[in-house]
Amino acid sequence: MATKHLEAIIQPRPAHYVGDGFRVHNFIPGFERLNMQRMDPFIMLDYNSKYEFPASTVPKGVGVHPHRGFETVTIAYQGRVQHHDSSGGGGIIGQGDVQWMTAASGVLHKEYHEKEWSEKGGIFQMVQLWVNLPAKDKMSQPKYQSIENASMKRVDLGENGYVEVIAGEYNGEKGPAFTFTPVNMMNAKLKAGGKATFSFPAHYTTAGIVIEGNIIVNGEKKVPTDYMLLFENQGEEFVIEAEDDAVVLIFSGEPIKEPIFAYGPFVMNTREEIIQAYEDFNNGKFGTLEE
Ligand code: MN
Repeated sequence: MATKHLEAIIQPRPAHYVGDGFRVHNFIPGFERLNMQRMDPFIMLDYNSKYEFPASTVPKGVGVHPHRGFETVTIAYQGRVQHHDSSGGGGIIGQGDVQWMTAASGVLHKEYHEKEWSEKGGIFQMVQLWVNLPAKDKMSQPKYQSIENASMKRVDLGENGYVEVIAGEYNGEKGPAFTFTPVNMMNAKLKAGGKATFSFPAHYTTAGIVIEGNIIVNGEKKVPTDYMLLFENQGEEFVIEAEDDAVVLIFSGEPIKEPIFAYGPFVMNTREEIIQAYEDFNNGKFGTLEE
């Protein structure tokens, strides 16, 4: 198999706040190179690198807002996130857990630090990645997949560490998440000096974030903590080696290759569908939720 080479190593930009609870570095679609077309099917990535939030009796977070046309994947590395939506749904994303929310036809929700965690405060670290939906599924029923850490497929690599599969597969072992189009998502948890080889179809959009430690990719390029790595859409196989104990989020998906029209919290195929989304939102079709 041909080697999949790195296309870019991307330094996190200065952090900004989403609401008052998420201090994030935006990677997608902030950079020219990381626009929605290039990163298809991944249309947004916000990374809250390790940040200590002081104790707060009022949980910090982001107030009521809608989504339509895609999925939000929230990965809690440190700390806990709580959410509520207009259909009465809600839940907690525990440390190490993932929430895979299919907003599809429309969700109105709020997201914030889980109450008990907030009262103690501490180091918070999280990724939120938006995965686009194909036109035929954009108006399907919203749903949630609560993916607890214990339910992820753990592929043991002996002294190298292990890979935790959230979606798609690694070495033939499948993760629990249902996806509408082919998406692989996994955490490589490697010990110092440990290596893992990954293989994805050449044309898939493939990238990652170094959550902990420092890594060497394909034996040649070093990628430090909190940096993003983007691979070329050619070649299949790459190797990650941990310089010190490392955690790397790896994601790879088949491009959907449909027109993208995005505005604010809506990502559709056409301008008309965005106008419709605002009309539906303004007419209360996303339901109601108290701040
Ligand atoms: Mn949201």
